Amino acid sequence: MKQVADKILQYHRTLDPLGVELVAVSKFHPAEMIRSAYDAGQRIFGESRVQELLAKIPLLPSDIKWHFIGHLQTNKVRQIIGKTSLIESVDSERLLNLIDSESLRAGVVTRVLLQIHVAQEETKSGFSPEEFIDFFTNRRFENLKATHICGVMGMASNTDDTDRVAADFNAIATLRQRALEAAPDLRGFDTVSMGMSGDFPLAIKNGATLVRIGTDIFGEREY
Ligand SMILES: *Cc1c(COP(=O)(O)O)cnc(C)c1O
Repeated sequence: MKQVADKILQYHRTLDPLGVELVAVSKFHPAEMIRSAYDAGQRIFGESRVQELLAKIPLLPSDIKWHFIGHLQTNKVRQIIGKTSLIESVDSERLLNLIDSESLRAGVVTRVLLQIHVAQEETKSGFSPEEFIDFFTNRRFENLKATHICGVMGMASNTDDTDRVAADFNAIATLRQRALEAAPDLRGFDTVSMGMSGDFPLAIKNGATLVRIGTDIFGEREY
């Protein structure tokens, strides 16, 4: 537990001066570990499964900002509306529109990031670059009534080829800029969430404003 606290302090010493925010990815780790990170000053935590998130919320302080970072099934949307500070992993327009209608129904505004797929792996999900740009060029965000798109999220290819990883991060950050050029009136579209334990320094070099770190803080996950 002391290790968790030390890691949190270390990350904040490095990231705070850069203006980069830390999401401590606590998926598969127990509430006590989250509590140690919280006591060391961490407030943003990332979870990837709805049931696990809902089970943890009542066990932990209410000023935690929960970020949902996993694939969100449409049949679980209603359950997490109003529970998160940011849904980072909106990977299709269909999911976005559903989040919007459920938020409207619940009387809340949901903050989201659009997940962009640039990595080599087919298994990763998200908007293709073309879909993403098309969405903003055709101003379909104007249909949203209770959802605020705060920026983008993405993952780099899982490879040792650092040039490829840097190029993926650059592509994600550049797509956010292109969306802003297509729709310069967008407000609060500033977040670029990219970088995990293995690749976050490259992500920051390429424009990340939010990094998502799990293993390096909490240790290996037992699935
Ligand atoms: C699990 C996860 C992370 C954290 O990865 P680590 O390699 O453990 O730092 C980051 N982002 C997403 C989307 C994840 O699912």
